[in-house]
Amino acid sequence: AKKYVVKKYFEGVPKRSDFELVEYELPPLKDGEVLVKTEWVSVDPYLRAYNRNVPVPYDQYGFQVGIVEQSNDTNYPVGARIVTHKGWCDYTVVNTSKVSTGNSTEVTYKLPDLKGMSPSIGIGAVGMPGITAYFGFLELCQPKIGETVVVTGAAGAVGSIVGQIAKIKGCKVIGFAGSDDKVKWLEKELGFDKAINYKTADVQKALQAAAPNGVDCYFDNVGGEISSIIMGQMNKRGRVSVCGSISAYNADPTQIPKATILQPSIVFKELRIEGFVVQRWLDRWPEAITQLITWIKMGQLKPAEHVTVGFDKIFDAFVGMLAGENTGKAVVKI
Ligand code: NDP
Repeated sequence: AKKYVVKKYFEGVPKRSDFELVEYELPPLKDGEVLVKTEWVSVDPYLRAYNRNVPVPYDQYGFQVGIVEQSNDTNYPVGARIVTHKGWCDYTVVNTSKVSTGNSTEVTYKLPDLKGMSPSIGIGAVGMPGITAYFGFLELCQPKIGETVVVTGAAGAVGSIVGQIAKIKGCKVIGFAGSDDKVKWLEKELGFDKAINYKTADVQKALQAAAPNGVDCYFDNVGGEISSIIMGQMNKRGRVSVCGSISAYNADPTQIPKATILQPSIVFKELRIEGFVVQRWLDRWPEAITQLITWIKMGQLKPAEHVTVGFDKIFDAFVGMLAGENTGKAVVKI
């Protein structure tokens, strides 16, 4: 079998040479184990952000969808599809007795019935990113009909779902994304009320024009200066769900990031700002998955994907995603 091993911590943009492609013999299956052939691999920002949380060398973990090829567990027969966190490998042996949803790094479960949709949706719109959008937005922003919602990273895996859920909930939705094509797509295909290219627009003015009555909810995927500008335009008792800060993931961790003075907005506007990790609601993931599948089937939610093909291309898909090449969820077909 083959797997990607991270042998060196990333500095700045991850490099191919930070990884080693390792070939190894899979061990024979023991009782309660299944052999899983990888079909789809997810490339996600947290693989960059949390790079230094694990001692090197480590197997590149991450979500993937695979199909059971050999089974010593009747609950996971040959042909069953499974979502694991085994990451960038072509085959893996999964100990089903250890299959749990209780440990953030070992999230493993049977792929739910996707009613004919591509299994890749299981690591996208109805997988971890979709679930992040569902709980991170609904639980922390508590949106009400008619409120104005802003989402950054709007054309990405999480952001594109947040914006669509906000529309389902009757909100006015403004999205920020990094290209004119993404902006057009958000407005024309996903029904955002307004999308803005943060790379070319004057963010302050564009947001004032798009949200003359202020912002009630902000779903923050990117952090940094743009988030300060958005929070400066929030209404009293606005809610901010801090999901990620991808604008700083490639920054030098030894450098203290430049602080932006947010405190006056937070105090005078009485904002509620809360960060979260999606595993907080692990016991409720099935609820989110069921709802997301239903919305997709009803035509209210469009699951968008950016597909790269080939095991050898996982690294390229990863850095491509960090650079904004993806519209929708970045996945790799193995
Ligand atoms: P995306 O599909 O959104 O892909 C990443 C996107 O980030 C790129 O497409 C790019 O789009 C944008 N980006 C890259 N650099 C910058 C920058 N400097 N400033 C602004 N935008 C940038 O990824 P996900 O949807 O998977 O993740 C989005 C965020 O959610 C990340 O911060 C991630 O860490 C976080 N997250 C948090 C979770 C949690 O539990 N808290 C769970 C899952 C994700 P563009 O062209 O618009 O620049």
